[in-house]
Amino acid sequence: MFVDKVSVLMRAGAGGNGVVSFRHEKFIDKGGPDGGDGGKGGDIILVGSTRQNTLAAFRYNKEITAKDGSPGSKRKRHGKSAVDLEVMVPVGTVVYNQDGELLGDITSDGQRVIVAKGGKGGFGNAHFTSSVRQVPRVAEKGEPGQEFTATLELKMIAEVGLVGLPNAGKSTLLSRITNAKPEIANYPFTTLKPNLGVADVGQNRALLVADIPGLIEGACEGKGLGVDFLRHVERTRVLIHLIDAYSNDIAKDYKIIRDELSAYRVDLSVRPEIVAINKTEGLDDDIVEDHINSVKKVAPKSSIVMAISAMSGAGLKDLLGQAVIFADKEAEIALEAEEDAIPIISLEDSEDYWRVTKQEDHYEVVGPKIERFAIRTDFESRDGLQRLRDIMRKMGIMHELERQKINPDDLIIIGKNGKSGQFKY
Ligand code: GDP
Ligand code: MG
Repeated sequence: MFVDKVSVLMRAGAGGNGVVSFRHEKFIDKGGPDGGDGGKGGDIILVGSTRQNTLAAFRYNKEITAKDGSPGSKRKRHGKSAVDLEVMVPVGTVVYNQDGELLGDITSDGQRVIVAKGGKGGFGNAHFTSSVRQVPRVAEKGEPGQEFTATLELKMIAEVGLVGLPNAGKSTLLSRITNAKPEIANYPFTTLKPNLGVADVGQNRALLVADIPGLIEGACEGKGLGVDFLRHVERTRVLIHLIDAYSNDIAKDYKIIRDELSAYRVDLSVRPEIVAINKTEGLDDDIVEDHINSVKKVAPKSSIVMAISAMSGAGLKDLLGQAVIFADKEAEIALEAEEDAIPIISLEDSEDYWRVTKQEDHYEVVGPKIERFAIRTDFESRDGLQRLRDIMRKMGIMHELERQKINPDDLIIIGKNGKSGQFKY
């Protein structure tokens, strides 16, 4: 598992000081104490964001400081509390204090966790009058904010999967665009263990790229690859499909891998795909153009086909740029799907919900709570019925019946089809 980890000094705001002050009034020599309280210091709050996927921002900014509260002032005026400092972190971030104790686990977009609390404001001297101390000259100082070194950890998932026949140049590309140092050799079946690397694509954005070695060699069954790695493969959002430009049959190479992708236990062939014809640095433009066209003929319309050279670096910026576009689009779709999946608790599910509907010859009252009361009511007993009427009045149902112009002797039926009982208004 690939873990991004940073230490950050968290410094919440101090509370503002309370002040010592006395009223100045005309004709009064010495007024009472009127020093106000200090305001609260700002908290540091981490906020989950699906739009970030790296802790890289904290590599350059290792101190986070929230603002202090303002001091109080005379005439019992409170000092302003500082605005809390919100810091965006990627969803999946876990935060620990300096003793390694868990402070928070950020699992959803917009989730907020207070990690460092601002100090309380000090009391002004207006607080300290008592019968024995009429002239208090004391005020409290603001409390310091919490300060400690936090550790942020993020388990990254690979957004980009690198596929291609052996020798297509996957390891070379990975070493070129990421911090990974995979082994590279000029013979097939080099990549025996999975490789992951982080490509920094600027603007606080990184892509975790996984070299998915030979699906062909039985990775479908998970041979030799850890479960963790397969999880990366399954969750990749974008595929970069590398093809060796020196191959005898470009379209055939392409199809071999596509077949492997669709045969995999989650159909990887439906992932957005960028096909990169590799090793093009020494080739004529028209040959490269031919290669691109032969892939386009057999690839899905949505696939993007381009030429690169992992060795010279040509085209890699475009390749990563396109990967980010696809990855972000997929993240957006995933987020929407997640939002759709949140169960919406409607009013009707609530225990206290009721509804009155005027029918042709009666008023129908439905709702879980009132129906349960009705079932337990003895409709033959005057007292029982009266109790039910009282409950209905308390719940506002009687009011609604009156609003709907119920007349004396009109029939009220509780529950659909009168299953919970009926009586005259
Ligand atoms: P993998 O099996 O897909 O991981 O392929 P490798 O990265 O191990 O590369 C296989 C061979 O192709 C190595 O000899 C690389 O040096 C070579 N190679 C990779 N990319 C390029 C490239 O852009 N141009 C050229 N000329 N050779 C490349
Ligand atoms: Mg390799």
